[in-house]
Order: sequence, then structure tokens, then C-alpha cells
Amino acid sequence: MALPEPISTLIAALNRLPGIGPRSAERIALHLVQSDASDAKQLADAVVRARERIHFCSVCGALTETSPCDICSDARRDASLVCIVENPVDILSLEKSGTFRGKYHVLGGKISPLDGVEPEDLRIAELEKRLKAEPIKEIVVALGTDVEGDATGFYLGKRLARPGLKITRIAHGLPAGTGLEFADELTLSRALEGRREMNS
Ligand SMILES: [Zn+2]
Repeated sequence: MALPEPISTLIAALNRLPGIGPRSAERIALHLVQSDASDAKQLADAVVRARERIHFCSVCGALTETSPCDICSDARRDASLVCIVENPVDILSLEKSGTFRGKYHVLGGKISPLDGVEPEDLRIAELEKRLKAEPIKEIVVALGTDVEGDATGFYLGKRLARPGLKITRIAHGLPAGTGLEFADELTLSRALEGRREMNS
């Protein structure tokens, strides 16, 4: 017996989400169609509302309701210091560590020729524009410590190098081969404090 169409459509939609395989998609879908209609509606509304209200910050690329985001428009933050991260969620990790008082720039990925990610697919040109328009004195590269993170950091060090700009890299203490989201707050604070200059 085939499943009714609305259920198979729901399963297919859930299965496209990251980390949800066919079995989980089926389990969630069957749970939803048997749950309170109001619970299901609440979930659907939350998805639509979040998707409609959240945008990328036009400056740093963070996820935000207002653009520029709260961090970009906060005059108390150090505008001479910009931390480069891979994903919007990395900003949350660094903010939780409470150490960083500068601003951010989301790259949107890491250079990875094998996966077809080239430098022009990342928000590097946007960063170069910011270097011209903002009083940036130091760029802190805070990418994961895997091969792509290293390669991207190296590429950025070369491409962004200009007189009067310090380019540093956090690495110290971060577990090898992982992203920022797996590091605890203390490790992240130490990694930030222990950043080293990478200009060659
Ligand atoms: Zn922003």
C-alpha cells in the first residue's frame, strides 16, 4: 500500500533537510500528521515566519531581521577589527565566548576546488569593498582547522595583504580538523586571544 500523497510529499520535503535521512523523515512526517492540528500549524507558521523575516546582513552576511545587523550598526564595537568566519552560525559561537569586540564578515564557505567552491563563490570581493570603506586595521581569520580552512586562510592572507593591515589567524587550541561550532567557549576565547600574525 502506497502512502497518501500529502504524506509522501511531506516526507520528501523533510528528507531534503540537512541531517534528516529517509527513516527520520518518515518518522517525523507520520508524527506530524497524527499530532494536534494546532501544533502542526504552529510549526508550519514558525518556518514561514522565520524564512520571511530573516535576511543576510548587507554588510557582514550574518543572518538578521534588520540590515545592517545589530553588530554592524553597534557603534560601541571596534570597527578596526574584523573577524572572518565561514558561516553565520560561527558568529553565534564567537559571541557566546564573549571575548571578541570587533565586527564580523561571513565568507559563506571555504575554498574547495574538489567541491567546486572557488574564491569568487565566497564573499571576498565584499570584504575588499569593506577594506576600502571602513577603518579596518586587523583581519582575524577564524576558519575551521581542516585542510580547506588552512588553504582559504592562506589564500586570504595573500589576497588581502596591503600596507597597514594586520592579518591574524586563530588556530591555537582549536581541535584539528573541526569547525568553530564544535569548540567550547573557553577554547574559542583562548584561540582568539592567542591569534598570530600571518602576513609573510
Ligand atoms: Zn552585519
